[in-house]
Amino acid sequence: MADKLGIYIHIPFCRSKCDYCDFYSLAGRDDRMDQYQKALLSHIRETAPLAQDFPVDTIYIGGGTPSYYGAKRLKELLGVVHKLYKVEKDAEVTVECNPDSVDRKALKILRKAGANRLSMGMQSANARELECIHRIHTPQQVNEAATAARKAGFTNLSLDLIYGLPGQTMDSWKATVEHALSLIPQHLSCYGLKVEEGTPLAARVAEGEVLPDDDQQADLYLWTVGRLERAGYPQYEISNFAKPGFASRHNLRYWLTQPYIGFGPGAHSDFGGRRYSFVRDLDAYIQGVLQGGDIIDESELIPKRERCGEYLMLRLRTVQGINEQEYRSTYFMDFAPLQARLEQFQAQGWAEQTDGRWHFTPQGFLLSNQLIGDLLERQEQAHWEDLVAKSRHDHLDQGCP
Ligand code: SF4
Repeated sequence: MADKLGIYIHIPFCRSKCDYCDFYSLAGRDDRMDQYQKALLSHIRETAPLAQDFPVDTIYIGGGTPSYYGAKRLKELLGVVHKLYKVEKDAEVTVECNPDSVDRKALKILRKAGANRLSMGMQSANARELECIHRIHTPQQVNEAATAARKAGFTNLSLDLIYGLPGQTMDSWKATVEHALSLIPQHLSCYGLKVEEGTPLAARVAEGEVLPDDDQQADLYLWTVGRLERAGYPQYEISNFAKPGFASRHNLRYWLTQPYIGFGPGAHSDFGGRRYSFVRDLDAYIQGVLQGGDIIDESELIPKRERCGEYLMLRLRTVQGINEQEYRSTYFMDFAPLQARLEQFQAQGWAEQTDGRWHFTPQGFLLSNQLIGDLLERQEQAHWEDLVAKSRHDHLDQGCP
């Protein structure tokens, strides 16, 4: 049976830019929305024949701010996807929204167009913290948007929160999490604030602004994992928590290395054994699609060996983790060097084994970059040792004295 496919559509427009954001999104370019819609529709249509053999089980419209782009345009996009692709009846269809650009009417249009999951950027329940990062909505608008979502018929709501914000304390973070829980979402994403190069936040930090340090962020994170577990939202990925049955199927496909096709500037795809992305330039994308031109930014065939590294990197982000049998039978690699290292991580309280699968603990997730880096080195070493052993064997087989 053909692999199932995910579709990602990128909407690169925002009402204004948040200080920490390095996603490809633009404020003040609303004049290009109509042309962008034309380009997207055209691109989605011309790609459809390539995907005919693949049932689509997730669609994700992200950004940017899709809700700011407008429900009518989103409805048109979903209509074309449903018409030209083999979208399964129970496909998960997510639309990202911000509290200041949704209302009940727009949400009803989206629901009717097939969207069944909303991912809302709440970030904080504290007005001062929101202002500090230049989010343009208020905590009150989050409440109103969550109510509007329910009334419009959405029964799968996810809220995004950020910890480690300027001036944030353990108490203010706890208040944010409790506020989010009071809105009874099905899913929560809690991200640690990262200072990305080239953002206004990076400039502020360079000028001396002090943010919660790594230890403070770790305290906030570990408290969150415990609190959400007790509230019925077990962790299923480093930053993601869900009520049973509500893990994001679309995001899981990235971590489980399942295929997806992306549309829009900066969008990535992993399809047909090839990984490729489109230019991070709105005008170049529109022009390339509508007038014919190269819109590919990067494209590469992924050899099995690289897939094997991805398996470690991506699966170890999830509590599902990795399994010896799966690893051996898919990549024909020796698991022993990884096993030895994972046992050392276990002794430190960073990893554990559940039902034959190795995964990190919350303490391990805090160090996941270093721990995965370490495992990748072991894997690389094992690969070369394996090659040397094979070449010796071949050599002997050829009767070399
Ligand atoms: S709304 Fe989202 S995509 Fe837009 S600037 Fe803020 S963080 Fe970035």
